Amino acid sequence: MTRARIAGIIVLAYSSRQLFLLKVVALMYVKFWGVRGSYPIARPDNTHFGGNTPCIEIKTKSGGHIIIDGGTGIRPLGKELVKAGPFRDGKGSLSILMSHTHWDHIVGFPFFKPFDLVGNTFTIYAARLDFITLKSIFEGFQNSVYFPVPFETLSASIQFKEIRPDMTFKVEGATVTTMQLNHPNVTLGYRIDDGEHVFTILSDNARIEAVQQGQGRENIPPDKLDAFKQAFRAQMIDMAWEADVLVYDTMFTKESIKGREHWGHSSPEDGVSVGEAAKCKRLILFHHDTEENDEAVRRKEIDANLLSTDNLTVYAAYEGMEFRLGKGSG
Ligand SMILES: [Zn+2]
Ligand SMILES: [Zn+2]
Repeated sequence: MTRARIAGIIVLAYSSRQLFLLKVVALMYVKFWGVRGSYPIARPDNTHFGGNTPCIEIKTKSGGHIIIDGGTGIRPLGKELVKAGPFRDGKGSLSILMSHTHWDHIVGFPFFKPFDLVGNTFTIYAARLDFITLKSIFEGFQNSVYFPVPFETLSASIQFKEIRPDMTFKVEGATVTTMQLNHPNVTLGYRIDDGEHVFTILSDNARIEAVQQGQGRENIPPDKLDAFKQAFRAQMIDMAWEADVLVYDTMFTKESIKGREHWGHSSPEDGVSVGEAAKCKRLILFHHDTEENDEAVRRKEIDANLLSTDNLTVYAAYEGMEFRLGKGSG
C-alpha cells in the first residue's frame, strides 16, 4: 500500500450492480510535524523523514484540536496556524498533551508563534512530578538565562493541568486515557478516542523486560518484578486496543539497542509485538535515532512490515505524514 492510500478517504459501495465512489468526510485527522528523537538534525541524507523533534497534531471528530509535544516540529505547525484562521485572529484554542518534558519534547515551544498572540488560549497537560510544578518547568526553561523572551510575558492565555497516570478524562471532545511509560520521571502514553477512531501514542518508552524506569519504580522487589512486567505489557495492550493509529517509540533497531536498553527507548520489534497483540490497524515507527539516515529508517519500515501480519501495516513516521480517517475507513 502506498502512503497516498493510507488515508482511506474513499470507500467503495456496491448498489444495484453499479459501483459508486463515495467521498467520506474525514473524522479524525493526524499530522506528524516532528518525528526525530533526542535533538534536531539537518543532513542531506535525512530529508525524507526529517530532522525535527516530536510534535503531532490531531483533530477530533467534534472539531477539537490537540497537539502532542512541543519538539522543534511545533515551530512549522505554529507558522501554519497563524497564516490564516482563528489563531492568526487571536481566537484560537487547543490542548497540548505532553508525553514528558525532556528537551527534545519542549525545545520548540519558545518558537511557537500562536503563544504570542493576544486572545489565543491553550491548556497544557503533563504528568504531575513530585519535585517541580509544570508551570515552573515552562518558566524555567524560558527564563532570561536561556532565552530572551520570558514565558510569563507571552500574550496568549496558557493554562497548565497536572495529570496522573491511569486517568480518563475529556479533552477536545475526545476521551483521553493515560499510562505511565517506561522512561525517567513520569512519562505519559495517551489513548485518544473520539468515539469513531482511536489514536494511541506510547513514546518515549523502554523495553520493560530489560529495565524498569520512572517515578515509583526505583526498587521493585524481585518477587514482584514478573507480575509488574506482565501488568505493564497488559496495560500497553489495553491502551492500544484496536487503535486505528498506534505511534510507538522505535528509536533503536534489534541490533543497536544492545547495551542501550536502559536509554529509555525501544525497537520496531517491540512496536509490532504490541500492535499485533492489541489488534491495531496501523503502527507508526516514531522518535527516529539521530544517527539514522533515510535509508536506515526505510529499512526499519520494510523489516517491521515483514515481521507483522497483513492486519497491521507499519509506516515510519516522516514530517508531513497525514492520516485522514473517514467513516468506515478505520
Ligand atoms: Zn524523546
Ligand atoms: Zn525522554
